[in-house]
Amino acid sequence: MKSLTEQDIRGSFVNCSKGEAKRLFVPRDLGELAWDDLDFLGWRDPGAPDRSYLVTERADQGRPVGVALRFQPARRGFLHRSMCSLCLTTHPRGGVSLMTARRAGAAGREGNSVGAYMCTDLACSLYLRDRKVPDSGMRIEESLTLEEQIARTLGNLYGFLDKV
Ligand SMILES: [Zn+2]
Repeated sequence: MKSLTEQDIRGSFVNCSKGEAKRLFVPRDLGELAWDDLDFLGWRDPGAPDRSYLVTERADQGRPVGVALRFQPARRGFLHRSMCSLCLTTHPRGGVSLMTARRAGAAGREGNSVGAYMCTDLACSLYLRDRKVPDSGMRIEESLTLEEQIARTLGNLYGFLDKV
């Protein structure tokens, strides 16, 4: 994806208030990130261990779209192997978490949310490119090319964002 500024990111959130978007934690090293290797940017909030954020440039909408997520950090032994629903990487316990996003607009104000299992560190882009290796040391052998895997991951991500 192309690089985003802090302002782009704060303006991209679809499921939080303007005030929340202004206050939430945004990484400070945006200028140093390898954006070419990212299909989306995901990060955790160091001040709130149950919060993560995800922003992607939606090619089909021509704008960045961000969502605020919540998750229950997995307890040891609680989750066994599980698979990220975006990049299909499998991780041992704790490596995948159920991320929930409050829905945008009125549905969210009524308390509705949507959830999906994702890599807890939201580093799907790096797992796809073998820049990061899951703790298990492997990904499922894929017959698809990297481009096809990226397209599939983005398709899965857009599907999730559409539900938000
Ligand atoms: Zn993933």
